[in-house]
Amino acid sequence: MSGPVEVGEGRRTEVGGLPVVRSLPRRDRRTIGPWCFVDHFGPADVARASMLVGPHPHIGLHTVTWVLEGEVIHHDSLGSEQLIKPGQLNLMTAGQGVAHAEETPKGSAGALHGLQLWVAQPETTRSGPAAFEHHPSLPEAVIGPVVATVLVGEVGGIRSPARTDSPMVGADVVVAGRAELSLDPTFEHGLLVVDGPVSVDGVVVPPGAFGYLGPGRDQIGLEPTTDNAGRLLLLGGVPFPEPIVMWWNFVARTREEMVQARQDWEAASDRFGPVESELGRIAAPPPLWDRPGMKPLEN
Ligand code: MN
Repeated sequence: MSGPVEVGEGRRTEVGGLPVVRSLPRRDRRTIGPWCFVDHFGPADVARASMLVGPHPHIGLHTVTWVLEGEVIHHDSLGSEQLIKPGQLNLMTAGQGVAHAEETPKGSAGALHGLQLWVAQPETTRSGPAAFEHHPSLPEAVIGPVVATVLVGEVGGIRSPARTDSPMVGADVVVAGRAELSLDPTFEHGLLVVDGPVSVDGVVVPPGAFGYLGPGRDQIGLEPTTDNAGRLLLLGGVPFPEPIVMWWNFVARTREEMVQARQDWEAASDRFGPVESELGRIAAPPPLWDRPGMKPLEN
């Protein structure tokens, strides 16, 4: 009932001066369940590289921010202002349109380290209203020497209060010894190793790499491979049933929707609204689909 664990490498890049490993989207895998974007940023010394992402728009997705070290301030066009610290979750729903800015608070010192994740919204909610929620603490599932902080969905019968629009799971899992973790067999899963390596069903997944597990598994064996505990992010969900298109900060279904969203942002339309930030508004990149010979959009 279970295929092999596939191990892939993330792509090293940079966002606003911050080093990032991007595990999704990849050329050979665009989504895992509804998860469509997985950036692991830092660890970086904020004296050298802080988070300075000015106002920019989103449509058709949730942003999920999970900080491992340091602090980030979020401002959005709904009027939310929220400081996020390790152990806390920010979940913003873009729906038909929202804008936000994220930055390292003034006077911050030490390391900045965390995950910026996107979840594609299903047809039922993607044209709906924008929303923002902050969870100051999240429940933990303790499975012997494995402790899972449940960001979204459910692990070991413990459910997160965070919003989900389709069947999915996200958890921060500390692996201090060997344990079997139950999985929903209707889900596919990805495991992003943050500290490790971690052995996943006997396959060693190093830090920065991503293990993929297809649907049909009802459990996995996790085990640290050194004397130190391993740590990974477990992401999963029912394989996304609708083909999506992604461009810049937008998740949609058609090229026409992308053209409209880009136009609306460039025209500073009410669709996105203003964001309180000292940082400059980020301009949309040139539309790829206007260049001759370019594929309209990646899928
Ligand atoms: Mn964003």
